[in-house]
Amino acid sequence: MQLKFNNRFVNELPADPNIAKTRRQINHACYSFVDPVKTQKPALVSASSEAATLIDLNKEDCNSDAFLNAFSGNQRLDGMQPHAMCYGGHQFGNWAGQLGDGRAIVLGEVLNQQAEHWTLQLKGAGPTPYSRTADGLAVLRSSVREYLCSEAMHHLGVPTTRALSLITTGDQVMRDMLYDGNAEYEPGAVVCRMAPSFIRFGSFQIFASRNEIDELRSLTEFTIKHHYPSLLEDHELGSADCVTAFFNEVCKATVTMVVEWARVGFVHGVMNTDNMSIHGLTIDYGPYGWLDNYDPEWTPNTTDASQRRYRFGQQANIALWNCYQLANALYPLIEATEPLEEALKQFQSNFADQWQAMMASKLGLKDVLETDGKLFEQLESLLTSAETDMTRFYRALASENLSYEHFVERDVYYDDNHNQEFHDQLNNWLTAYQTRLEQQDLSCEQRISAMNAVNPKYVFRNYLAQLAIDKSEAGDHSMVNELLDVFRNPYMEQIEFEHYAAKRPDWARTKVGCSMLSCSS
Ligand code: AMP
Ligand code: MG
Repeated sequence: MQLKFNNRFVNELPADPNIAKTRRQINHACYSFVDPVKTQKPALVSASSEAATLIDLNKEDCNSDAFLNAFSGNQRLDGMQPHAMCYGGHQFGNWAGQLGDGRAIVLGEVLNQQAEHWTLQLKGAGPTPYSRTADGLAVLRSSVREYLCSEAMHHLGVPTTRALSLITTGDQVMRDMLYDGNAEYEPGAVVCRMAPSFIRFGSFQIFASRNEIDELRSLTEFTIKHHYPSLLEDHELGSADCVTAFFNEVCKATVTMVVEWARVGFVHGVMNTDNMSIHGLTIDYGPYGWLDNYDPEWTPNTTDASQRRYRFGQQANIALWNCYQLANALYPLIEATEPLEEALKQFQSNFADQWQAMMASKLGLKDVLETDGKLFEQLESLLTSAETDMTRFYRALASENLSYEHFVERDVYYDDNHNQEFHDQLNNWLTAYQTRLEQQDLSCEQRISAMNAVNPKYVFRNYLAQLAIDKSEAGDHSMVNELLDVFRNPYMEQIEFEHYAAKRPDWARTKVGCSMLSCSS
């Protein structure tokens, strides 16, 4: 197994001169060198062949000892320069100071045959100077969730970091899953993630908060030069308008990401600014969840249960709030508020446009008319009031038959006891929808295939994750690999896997891991 590394982040940005693992505040540095801990008995649970292809590895490579040793952290390959990144962040709306990679270790940047750079990062590979009071490890439960969801999101077409491998370490890790004093040992695991970079909003915030403007400038110029190079066609690197243009691009990418989350019913759960990628990629899969019954108020994260700051319907507002924090961090390089305010205004109009276009596509509409807003709003309220399974509903709507009986037959409701008022509202909506469809020149078959290309049949429902985890913890990893396979084609009918498109079963409604998750991972 041969990988070519070109570690631009390490080569071009300031390092922490101290190589001790002691937990501490690290000033004037973008990262600290740190080696992964050795694992006792690593075993491969799964590797993503699509992710592997991005770094020119084939299936045989993925099954080799060299792969297992490299991506469990046991063996450093030539060219790897393991390091943990320094960043800060706002957690649940409050500035938390230095956070950093507490249990993530970047191995380096692979340069592939297409001349693309892919940063490889192990999650759960042991303590770093940023581990604060925690152990730097990850358990199998949360690693299965991160691994499968990253790849599922990719195949759904949602911007995301990727997952190359899921490896059990053979070590036991102590976790108090519900933070209720009942700590237990769980199997440890390491996921290897991939992304163009793991630079976050918080990477800029930490320097601004410490008034380390030279480092802020270096990181910003580095990010633009390597990750937004097209900006240099019209702007001089480091100029105020270049930084403004960069901020604009990040806002745009962030809008696209949250609109895509809304399209597929994904709730991130912890949209802290340290979990916001500078590329607009979904990053840091923690207590995330997928909507079963459509409910804008829902959050899977028990740590956020009272405030519901990161609920489904709030994600765009939070993304905007996070962009405000990034604007504050970049301000010293621009020294004018107006261009930043303009970009933030643009965020809002961009979001409104993209959200409408996304809703139109889900309904099989070729474009958005002014009156469509009402159609979208009424549908949301119908879906919410009748406990409707979001994913199943949109697949059922892609049909010639647009009647209540059809939706019942397609098993889209969690409770079939509907009153007259609901029937009237649904019928009114279906009539309005039908009328709207007649205004466009699209055959029924064309509409159905367009809708089935944007409304997935298979999403990573919370209860599916829990079933796969239960089996994996018992030593049977077949469901992880089977789900990975199903999620490769989320928009296709897969008759033999019909059961993975079923509504959430009753037992999962309030079960831990299915509808409720804590940050413990
Ligand atoms: P998260 O909520 O997963 O984004 O984590 C917030 C911060 O806590 C990040 O700086 C993580 O690196 C750190 N962290 C989370 N879990 C652990 C752990 N088990 N050991 C060390 N640091 C952790
Ligand atoms: Mg994080």
